[in-house]
Amino acid sequence: MSAQEHPLGISFEFFPPNTDAGREKLMRNRDLLAERNPRFFSVTYGAGGSTQNRTITTVNAVRECGITTAPHLSCVGSEKAQLRELLTDYKAQGINSLVALRGDLPSGMGGIGELRYANELVEFIREETGDHFEIAVAAYPESHPQAASFESDLQNFARKMNAGANLAITQYFFTADAYFHFVERARQLGVEAPIIPGIMPITNYSKLARFSDACGAEIPRWIRKQLEAYGDDSAAIADFGEEVISRLAQRLLDGGAPGLHFYTLNQAEPTLKIVDNITGRS
Ligand code: FAD
Repeated sequence: MSAQEHPLGISFEFFPPNTDAGREKLMRNRDLLAERNPRFFSVTYGAGGSTQNRTITTVNAVRECGITTAPHLSCVGSEKAQLRELLTDYKAQGINSLVALRGDLPSGMGGIGELRYANELVEFIREETGDHFEIAVAAYPESHPQAASFESDLQNFARKMNAGANLAITQYFFTADAYFHFVERARQLGVEAPIIPGIMPITNYSKLARFSDACGAEIPRWIRKQLEAYGDDSAAIADFGEEVISRLAQRLLDGGAPGLHFYTLNQAEPTLKIVDNITGRS
């Protein structure tokens, strides 16, 4: 089954650009990605509110094309009153989807805030706004980096879903079996909602290695070794990345994944190539 045939389809994530050139580039790439009929776009949020204004400005610019756009919202470092205000504002602006996260405090930033974990944020959103928002939360097939154990992380994931989340989007990973195992274990704990794999196109080895260390995503040795060998040959990295990630995405869909969420890093081409490979468009 292709991603486009599936009812949940594909979605694309952006971050809020901070320059005029970045904003113009994002709008061009948004237009290219919109042609693939995504189910939604989403826009990240800096924990502690550091990009709060840029997130909503970016959401409003992105959704001008008529496609649902979900702001990410994190609770760490925020008080309930601030979150309440933000939810009221989002509701008033006609936003009806959110990606709800705990987030990570940038080093040196103050207290953790009134809500400690994402399950408490999901509960708070439901208490404050009922069923207004479709809520997505984060899932970690290879375990969250701070998790005490795989089991406790899975239990915490189930708690977050039971608090009222409608769907989950995973951290990116390169091993399809990690996703299938996670989904199977979550189903055993009674989680029925869709768990959508997060897909990270590979375009740059050093950036990918840095991100992956920070977020706990494992780059398998056979991928790492080949990327290392390509050095500065960005065309070779792009070709290899396209092949590896297209194959991973296809395997996930063939194995029953209910859609794919792409971490675009505000680029269009690497994501489009993968989408077109799996939908037979190229
Ligand atoms: P939680 O679900 O709260 O989990 C965090 C840790 O606490 C885990 O180790 C978990 O096992 C443990 N835990 C959870 N609940 C409990 C509990 N009740 N009691 C005890 N322990 C518990 N970050 C941003 O800053 N901005 C973004 O826009 C952003 N977007 C993201 C989008 C996706 C799809 C993903 C996968 C991640 C994103 N992140 C973003 C990163 C995320 O904020 C970090 O991974 C953060 O460390 C955890 O957030 P969470 O919502 O998964 O936390």
